[in-house]
Amino acid sequence: MKARTLMMLGGLALGAWGLSMALEGLRPEHFDLTDWHNEQGDPSTATHPASLPEIDISFLRCGSITLPELVAVRGSLSLAPRVIVHSSVLIRHPQATFLYDTGLSSNIHDYLTHRSLFFRKTLANFTLEQPLSEHLRQRALKPEDIAFALLSHLHWDHVSGVPDLPGVPLRVNRVEYEAARYTLFAQHGGLTRQLLGNHPLTCFDCTGPTYEGFRSSYDLFGDGSIILLPLPGHTAGNTGMLINRANGSRVFLLGDAVWVAENYLTPATMHPFIWSRVTSDDATARQTLIDLHNFALAHPEIPMIAMHDGHLQEAFSKQV
Ligand SMILES: [Zn+2]
Repeated sequence: MKARTLMMLGGLALGAWGLSMALEGLRPEHFDLTDWHNEQGDPSTATHPASLPEIDISFLRCGSITLPELVAVRGSLSLAPRVIVHSSVLIRHPQATFLYDTGLSSNIHDYLTHRSLFFRKTLANFTLEQPLSEHLRQRALKPEDIAFALLSHLHWDHVSGVPDLPGVPLRVNRVEYEAARYTLFAQHGGLTRQLLGNHPLTCFDCTGPTYEGFRSSYDLFGDGSIILLPLPGHTAGNTGMLINRANGSRVFLLGDAVWVAENYLTPATMHPFIWSRVTSDDATARQTLIDLHNFALAHPEIPMIAMHDGHLQEAFSKQV
C-alpha cells in the first residue's frame, strides 16, 4: 500500500475516533446517587459555634477562556458560551488575610512560552485580564500583607499567581503534596515546580472529624469558621473550603472538583475528552461529584463555587 493511501486511512481513522469521542460526550451518563444521608449522617444537622467572626470574601478574576457548554458539561447539547476563569479568592479573617488559590501572575506567559504547542493551544489558552499583583495593588495590599496562600491543589493553573507573591508562605494538603512529588511536579516540563519557586511551603492534614457528610475536615483557625474539606479525584488532595461567617451567607469553595455548577447539580462530568485529561482518579472524582450533589440538595442556600466557574463568581461578587 502506498504511503499516501496509508496516511489517508490513518487520517480517516483519526477523524472517526475524534467524531466518536465528540459524540460520546453528548451522551448523558448515569450516576448512582446512593442514600448519602444514611451512609454519612444528615448534612443538614451540623453543629455550629455560637459566635462566628466576620469574614470578607472577594473573587479576584485574573483571566478567562470561553468554551461551549457541551465541553464543560457532559450530556449537554448546548453551544452556549461558558466562561472558564482563572481566579484567586481574597479572604479577610480576623486572624489572617489570605488567599485561596492564586489566579495568574503578571509574568505567567514567560512561564508558558516553552511548553508544547498543544498545551498552549488547549489548557493554557486563556486571556490574561488582570494579574494577581494588580488586584492586590488596587486594594492597597502588599505581598507582606498576605499571611499565606492556601492552594486548593497543585495543578499549574492554581499556582500561576505565586510569582506575584514574593515571600508569601504557601499551604497545601499533605496528600496533594506527596502525590505531586511522584507525578504532577514532572508534568508540563516541571511547570508547577517552577511556579512554586522557593516559597516556604507547609502541609496541613484534613484528619479532623466528619463534617456535614464529608469524611474528614480541618478547622483552619480552630474557630469553626474556615473548614477545609477533601474533595479528591481531580487530584489526590484537591481541597474545598467551607466558610462560616457572621456577616453573610456560608460559602463553599470547591477548588477544581467541578468546573461549573451543572457538574454537581446534574451531576455530570465535563466532556470525557477534557475530563480524562484533567482527572487523576476517575472513580474518586465521580464520588466527589455525588457528595457535592447531595450537599447541594441539603444546602440550596449555600453558594458552591468552583475556581473556574465565571458565572457563579460574578453572581457572588454582584451580591457583595
Ligand atoms: Zn484548574
